Amino acid sequence: MGLQKGKQLCRMVWAGSVCLVVLGLFPGVAMALTVNAPQEVPLGKPFRIQITAEAGLSEIGVHWLGSVLHLPVGGGEKAESFECLLGSDVKSASAGEYALEVRARRGGQEVVVRRWVRLAEAAYPLQRLSLPSSQVDLSQSALDRHYREKARVMRALSRSSPAKHWRLPLKRPVPQAVGSVYGLRREINGQPRSPHRGVDFRAPAGTPVRSVAAGRVALVGDHFFAGKSVYVDHGWGMVSMYFHLRGARVQEGERVGRGAVLGRCGATGRVTGAHLHFGLSLLGQLVDPLPLLNVSSGQ
Ligand SMILES: [Zn+2]
Repeated sequence: MGLQKGKQLCRMVWAGSVCLVVLGLFPGVAMALTVNAPQEVPLGKPFRIQITAEAGLSEIGVHWLGSVLHLPVGGGEKAESFECLLGSDVKSASAGEYALEVRARRGGQEVVVRRWVRLAEAAYPLQRLSLPSSQVDLSQSALDRHYREKARVMRALSRSSPAKHWRLPLKRPVPQAVGSVYGLRREINGQPRSPHRGVDFRAPAGTPVRSVAAGRVALVGDHFFAGKSVYVDHGWGMVSMYFHLRGARVQEGERVGRGAVLGRCGATGRVTGAHLHFGLSLLGQLVDPLPLLNVSSGQ
């Protein structure tokens, strides 16, 4: 069932893909770069692109929404293919057409392939809550703390280590069902709040929380909102995050394997009960991780 859903996603993502080849800027120069990318993707959803570069190309960079993913080109005699993941953040991105550019060099010449990807509005559910203002309003010291912690998190998310350690589908971090989905729009006491930029799993306290792929621990935090949290850099712009842990079992800089226990589920940070909040960043964009995990919201 899960695998079937994954195949359906692949078909959906690849449907409508077109292939562009840009030859060298000068006639007769054998230089080609091929990019397959979807023409339209819902806001917040991850998507795959595939790049094929002829031998001899170097410095391949994927430019998307203000960030760059540098691909490790071998410089050998054969053409090379790369499969990358990109996405958009439901909080910061807006619907519209965005340029996806792949740039490469051979010698002193630059090759640029530009594709336009339409980010389409997506219907995410709305949740209305009424809470006492004492539970909603933050003190200045809490806000100051949050902004300091946010700066550290932004640095961790901007990582893009050159080795790719992930493969699809990603491993489930916990076996439990999904509670709150990604993109949930929240309104507290009539005021719109930030949308939910991760997935909550209904995991009881003590459940082992596992890394969705191999990688290196980029950050271990004890933050105001996220509580005890672990961030893992999986390479090629992918960073996964695990919040509200009872405690972390790993240290910053440590290498972890796919499925390694990072900590145990808890209720630390600003939560009302134990659960796992799982988030995924692709080049700094927090995307819906479910399509990559082969988990439906009903499971
Ligand atoms: Zn959450």
